[in-house]
Amino acid sequence: MAKPVIGLTPLYDTERERLWMRPNYLRAVAQTGGVPLVLPLTGDDEDVAALAGLCDGFLFTGGPDVHPALYHEETMRYCGSINPRRDRLEILLLNQAVQLDKPVLGICRGIQLINVALGGSLYQDIPAQVQGEPIAHYQQPPYDVPVHNVFIEKDSPLYSILHKTQMMVDSMHHQAVKSLAPQLRCAARSQDGLAECVYMPDKRFFMGVQWHPEYLFEPDSDSEDLFQAFVDAAKE
Ligand code: MN
Repeated sequence: MAKPVIGLTPLYDTERERLWMRPNYLRAVAQTGGVPLVLPLTGDDEDVAALAGLCDGFLFTGGPDVHPALYHEETMRYCGSINPRRDRLEILLLNQAVQLDKPVLGICRGIQLINVALGGSLYQDIPAQVQGEPIAHYQQPPYDVPVHNVFIEKDSPLYSILHKTQMMVDSMHHQAVKSLAPQLRCAARSQDGLAECVYMPDKRFFMGVQWHPEYLFEPDSDSEDLFQAFVDAAKE
């Protein structure tokens, strides 16, 4: 059958008013048999509905912080930059994808956006708000090198894909899931208890990861298996 088309939410350079994309995302989708399609930054309901119908799956990419107002908090001084236009597009698109049961993979900002769109909240800054042994959730480059462990639940779709209870991941986030959205379950946590992978049960494929499998993709078969499961689900 035809290759599945995977819609990617666009990155936006606010200073230069330009859409852009990291080639790693495109490469990971293409190499696992999907056709990557970078979506426009629209906030129009009808346009988003049309785009949702057009694509077979959606990759929610990394990017700036989600506006704290969307989870009913004031912006703390340690919150990062935001992009309300991406928030709007991605929340509309996520709701469409859930309704249509089209496969969703969220990466970094993607897992956070998914959680907020479904009624969860975020830590606005891990160093400021999370106590305990400090793990390098915001690593220095190079980014294709794993820096911390995640511990995987055995009854989760992540375990079904990887068949392991522990793996090393890269990490480039200063925010994290605080309260988990009611429809979501946690599939993996870091040593300090933060959610590193969430999923929605009873969906074809609906997962968010806090790490960056698109950076680890080349040398790492786990990242390839994750993308493969996502793109295969979009094929069905
Ligand atoms: Mn991390």
